[in-house]
Parts: sequence; structure tokens; C-alpha cells
Amino acid sequence: MPLAQRLIEQKEKSSDMEKGQISVQTENIFPIIKKFLYSDHEIFLRELISNAIDATNKLKTLASKGEFSGELGDLTIQVAIDAEKKTLTVRDRGIGMTDEEVKKYLNQVAFSSASEFLEKYKDDTSIIGHFGLGFYSAFMVADRVEAITKSFAKDAQGVAWSCEGNPEYSLENIDKADRGTDIVLHINSDNEEFLQEHRIQSMLEKYCKFMPIPIQFGTRKETVYEGEGEEEKSSEVDVPNIVNIVNPAWKKSPSELKDEDYLQFYQDLYPYSSPPLFWIHLNIDYPFNLTGVLYFPRLQQGLEVQRNKIQLYSNQVYVTDNVREIVPEFLMMLHGIIDSPDIPLNVSRSYLQNDSNVRRITGFITKKVAEKLHDLFKNNRPDFEEKWKDLGVFVKYGILSEEKFSEKAIPFALLKSVEGKYFTLEEYKEKVKEQQTDKNGKIVLLYSNSPSDHDVQISAAKAKGYDVLEFDQIIDNHFIQHLEHQENAGISFARVDSDTIDQLIQKEDAPESVLSEEEQKTIRELVRSAGQG
Ligand code: ADP
Repeated sequence: MPLAQRLIEQKEKSSDMEKGQISVQTENIFPIIKKFLYSDHEIFLRELISNAIDATNKLKTLASKGEFSGELGDLTIQVAIDAEKKTLTVRDRGIGMTDEEVKKYLNQVAFSSASEFLEKYKDDTSIIGHFGLGFYSAFMVADRVEAITKSFAKDAQGVAWSCEGNPEYSLENIDKADRGTDIVLHINSDNEEFLQEHRIQSMLEKYCKFMPIPIQFGTRKETVYEGEGEEEKSSEVDVPNIVNIVNPAWKKSPSELKDEDYLQFYQDLYPYSSPPLFWIHLNIDYPFNLTGVLYFPRLQQGLEVQRNKIQLYSNQVYVTDNVREIVPEFLMMLHGIIDSPDIPLNVSRSYLQNDSNVRRITGFITKKVAEKLHDLFKNNRPDFEEKWKDLGVFVKYGILSEEKFSEKAIPFALLKSVEGKYFTLEEYKEKVKEQQTDKNGKIVLLYSNSPSDHDVQISAAKAKGYDVLEFDQIIDNHFIQHLEHQENAGISFARVDSDTIDQLIQKEDAPESVLSEEEQKTIRELVRSAGQG
């Protein structure tokens, strides 16, 4: 039987104030909530604001269906701190709740889903984003929580619900001017950091930056200019501090967006970074729903510093920036956003890797990346060559680590000659096969890992009509081996200084035979008859 049905409300009515017991469960979940996720307490804000967004969206839906005909008005969600009272408030102008709904949703639904969530995950810190603890996550940081709410329904009565982190609650009728809900957290002494403006501002930027309803956190100063030339004056004015972008680029259709929009979105995501090389807009709704934009960063600063920048969202709500199980390892150096409600979030990370949806999503992303690179290669070869110094390591890493990617990418992976010319493997084989095929029919590709040190050998090779490639990155040793071991590749690699120039490409077994045709025939016959004897 679901927990919700097991809950029995015990009420004692006293005039207009009602008190009651949320649950008659033996185990009290409040101490568990307080301890839960000690390091991730901050998710409470995401949970409360998500509820405010849901309540607002529900009202918009009702209005669009004609089931709510009042004024929607300004739907901005407000977040406010009162340092003196030690409260943090999340205020929405959404559908609100009647007293019956408060009892149903906060005392029963929210309480039982929080209990079930904790029962299941209290020992598992690996689940992604800790989604779904919901309203009761407020008790991680507050020792009293109030919900002051008024339903959108005509002539609704405002109600105030209050609970002090134990199964008792109180509920009373109040006057509330506006439709919607204020959730007021009385922050406890261990969590006073959540009364600091900069802390809340940065949490809002992390979790709510792309939520679909405007979220205001106080005001900020903005400089305005008046007059012109000598007369120009500037002054500072207070403007609403809206923390989010309600219609982020990845939610739009690619046809609506110009390059500037993608570049601007990159700046919104990673302020002050140098512009990306290019991007891929992901947009699919069958067999799974996934949207997002992935950017290829410039890699000059080294691979390590730039990794782990992809953020996972679920319907515009931030989940995590640890997407290891969802994005193939070699794509972790990409930047950007993936938004998919089809990634199961309340499962352990190890489970995620084997989830069939996640595997399909991983495959899809890999395929899209390979296709995008192939398009660039096909449509603008000079530009692709220009970008190769940033892309090369990435493509090679992908080829080495993902078979599916390897198949697609080898046709556009570039090899660079010591003269700085670029070739695909097929082009290069064609170019050198005449001069550089050895006695076994293998095309021997000569290379140098340091052309300035191999000056002499390179000149000698050229004098013999050979060509020399340059491979100077750490990954190249593995890359070369990978190319050599491809099925039917018909190539081998030799470092230009690994032997004398005459031995580098061995063309015959021994000097040409000095015997005449006639003498060879006699010898063959002798050998045959000896074998039979
Ligand atoms: P969930 O949001 O996953 O349903 P919660 O525990 O966060 O779970 O909330 C339980 C329910 O309480 C919601 O489904 C909703 O009906 C109600 N609720 C919570 N916050 C609000 C709000 N700000 N406005 C209206 N209803 C709310």
C-alpha cells in the first residue's frame, strides 16, 4: 500500500487554528532530512523554485485552456532574504492551494514522497542530482517552514501552513491579497550561509539560470546615460535582478538562431572564455527527447583544464555537471548543455551506464559529433584544416576510444606532412604508394616526431623521392598503431630516423638473381625430384 494511503491525519481543531499530525509512522523522517546530503544542502532551493515554476506553468496552462479567466499579471518568481528575521522566501503567483489542497499536497503527497525518497536513497550519495526530494528538502536548512498560499480559484481563502521539522503542523486562515504561494524558510543556525546574498545569487545562477519563468532576486545597480557629448551624464539606477534566461538557445529551433546567438549563449554559460570553434545543436524527440548545444572549445590551454564543463538539465532545471555516465569519455572535453527528461535521475550512477535510453543517447551524441565534423570537412576544407590543430587531438582521442566514432572519423582525420600540407589517409596512400610500397605490398608511411632534429634524414628521404609526415603529439604513437592495425589498412609506419634510408622501405628480399631462366628451371626441377625421392 502506498505510504500516502497509510497516512492518517489526526486533527485537533481550536477556533480558527487547526493543528494536526502529518503522519503516524514509527520513523520520523525529519532527523534524516536534516542529515541527508550534508554536502549538497543547496539543492533545496532548486526544489522549491521548481515547485514555484510548476505552479506558475499550471496556471498558464489553465489560462490557455480558458479554465482561468483572471489576470495572469506579472508571474515573476521572487526570492528574498530577510537577514534580521533569518528567513528566505520563495514567492510565486501560480495556482496556489486551498486548505484542502495544502493538506493533500503538503501533508500527504509531499511528505510521503520525501519519505519514500529517503528510504530508498539515504545511503546512496551517487544518484544524479538528487532529484525529487521535493518540498521537504527545505527542512535540510530550516527549522520551521511556512507555506502562505491562496488558490487561483474564485473567492479562495488564503491559508498559512507551518511546520517545525516534526510531524506536527498548523494550518490557519489568513488574509492574503495575491494569488499564489510564499514558502518561508526560517533558516537554522547551522545553515546561516543561506542568508548571504552572494551565496543565494550563486546558487540561483547554478540551478535556475535557464528556468522558464523569470526569477527575481532583489535589485541590482545599472548605469544609465543621459544627454550627449559634453552634456552626457551617467547615473546609477536600481533594476530588478533577474537571474535567469527564460528561453535559452538550446530550446529554440536551429533555424531561429544566428551564429551570434550561439556565441552569446556560450558567453552566458562560460563568461570570459575565448569563443568556441563551432557547435552542434542537438534536437531530437524520438525515440527519446534530447535537446542541447555542444561546443568545441579551443584547446590551446591544454585538455585537462577544460574538461567536465557539460551541464545536464532536465526540462531547463539544472541537474549536474558530472555527466560521465551519459557522455562518452572522449566527448567530455566539449562544452555546453544537454537537456533530457528521458535520463533517469534517481538511480545510481552505475545503473545509468547500462540503461538502454542512456546508451542510445550516448550513441546519438557520438553520431551527431561525427556528422558535424564530417560536414565541416566536406563543406570547407581549408577552414577544417585551419581548425585541425585544435580538433586533431580530440578526433584522434575519439578514434582511439570509440569504435563507432572511429569508423566515421578515419575518413576525415588529417595527416600533416613536414611541409605543412594536410591529407586524409586515403589521399596520402594514393600520393605515396608508387614510391613507398615495400616488398610485401605494404605502403610504408614515413614520419618524424621532430622535423628540426631529423633534418638530415628528411632530406635524404626526399632525395629518394619519399614523403615524410609529422606526428608530434603524445597521442600520435597510439594513433599510428591504431591506423596500422585497422583491417585491410595495408600500411605500416616507420620513423624516418629508425634505420638507414635504404633500409626504411625494404623493396626486395635479395639482390636480383644472377642465374639465367634456363638455369633456374633446371634447379626447380632438381628440387622437385629430390622432394619425391
Ligand atoms: P513534486 O513537486 O515532485 O510533486 P513536492 O514535494 O515538491 O513534490 O511537492 C508536492 C506537491 O505540493 C506538488 O505536487 C504541488 O501540488 C504542491 N506544491 C508544492 N509547492 C507548491 C507551490 N509553490 N504552489 C502550488 N503547489 C505547490
